[in-house]
Amino acid sequence: MDFTISPETNELVARVREYVDSRLVPLEPRLLEGGFGEVLDELRSCRAEVRKLGLWAPNYPLEYGGLGANLVTHGLISEALGRCPLGHYAFGCNAPDAGNAELLHMYGSEEQKRKWLAPLAAGDIRTCFGMTEAANSGANPLMLETRAMLDGDEWVINGDKWFTTGADGAALCIVMAVTDPDARPHQRASMLLVPVATPGYQLVRNTPIMGHAGSDLFSHGEIRFQDCRVPLDNLLGPRGEGFRLAQARLGPGRIHHCMRWLGICERAMELMLRRATTREISPEGKLLADSDIIKEWIADSAAEIRAARLMVLHTAWRIEHAGARAARDEVSMIKYYVAGVLQRVLDRALQLHGGLGMTDYTVLAWYYREERAARIYDGPDEVHKLSVARRLLKSVT
Ligand SMILES: Cc1cc2nc3c(=O)[nH]c(=O)nc-3n(C[C@H](O)[C@H](O)[C@H](O)COP(=O)(O)OP(=O)(O)OC[C@H]3O[C@@H](n4cnc5c(N)ncnc54)[C@H](O)[C@@H]3O)c2cc1C
Repeated sequence: MDFTISPETNELVARVREYVDSRLVPLEPRLLEGGFGEVLDELRSCRAEVRKLGLWAPNYPLEYGGLGANLVTHGLISEALGRCPLGHYAFGCNAPDAGNAELLHMYGSEEQKRKWLAPLAAGDIRTCFGMTEAANSGANPLMLETRAMLDGDEWVINGDKWFTTGADGAALCIVMAVTDPDARPHQRASMLLVPVATPGYQLVRNTPIMGHAGSDLFSHGEIRFQDCRVPLDNLLGPRGEGFRLAQARLGPGRIHHCMRWLGICERAMELMLRRATTREISPEGKLLADSDIIKEWIADSAAEIRAARLMVLHTAWRIEHAGARAARDEVSMIKYYVAGVLQRVLDRALQLHGGLGMTDYTVLAWYYREERAARIYDGPDEVHKLSVARRLLKSVT
């Protein structure tokens, strides 16, 4: 097993990081004060700059104008982008578009790719992904109730979704709906492409999240489908294969998320180190860094970040060499382990900053608030832990 990173990849990641630190981090004060709306125009300019630099859409295939990065390279880029809340948006690889693009690329028909993947890769449209329903446990998607019934040569969709990230302003919703209620549980659902202009599709509202109302690409929508009709051809991938597609979408997506979280951890660590070495806590000039408690926080954070990083890179390597199925335990483990590291490191960094940590004068409070969800989306901690434990216990019986 060789984890050497090629000079080309190192150079690519260094360029991304340099752009994030020099161009995006300086926009943070405005973002923290006014939200995403405050920096949207600037973000548009940044996206154009990133394109000119040849760094646009690292995860998209080459034929669609992306960099065609493999999982490890995209992971390393995600880490660099995680250093600023604007990173993934500026580089055209934010959730849920990145995962949707992968779905369209892997399972879309030529016509679906032409119609949706090409403009998505060009950054001309955004998309959203509707699976979770308020009325049913999202942790167990077998319970989903949204129905799509065939009527002639059309699918008729009825049901409600929520937490449809980025629905506000999206052009297309990839929706997961029950198409075959009598089939075996994992073959009941399919994915369908629903253009948002379709009659019967309604964005009811953006759900307020921890103090912000959400708008545009930084929002989570509540969607209603009421006799919403789309043509037969809007089925994405084979009928009844929705769960398989969802898994295919989530596997690599978890690598991207975990590496992004590690970029956040590194940023938090840098802030922690700077504050610890400059904040005096006694008239004699004793620094926070002189405290053994603070040293322990720093040492624990460093070790946890290092362990998490190795776990994620190893998992990416496993997926590339043995496939997503063979690596499913590793994927589950990084999902809960890295989300936990993220929370602990952010909590220590915030605590170390005292009152300043609670303000929006550093990026810590933003991350603390926005990234709490890491332990919930793409499968809550408990569900991943249970599946790892289940397979381990089975291996000895
Ligand atoms: C910021 C954010 C963005 C999201 N974006 C999207 C999106 O774009 N599209 C989409 O479809 N969904 C999205 N989701 C939804 C997300 O996938 C669900 O919230 C998640 O799957 C959990 O489902 P739930 O909220 O219904 O919680 P529930 O299923 O009700 O579970 C609640 C809690 O119960 C515990 N739990 C659940 N099952 C078990 C179990 N078997 N054993 C022990 N404990 C258990 C867990 O602690 C869990 O957090 C998003 C969520 C968030 C927070």
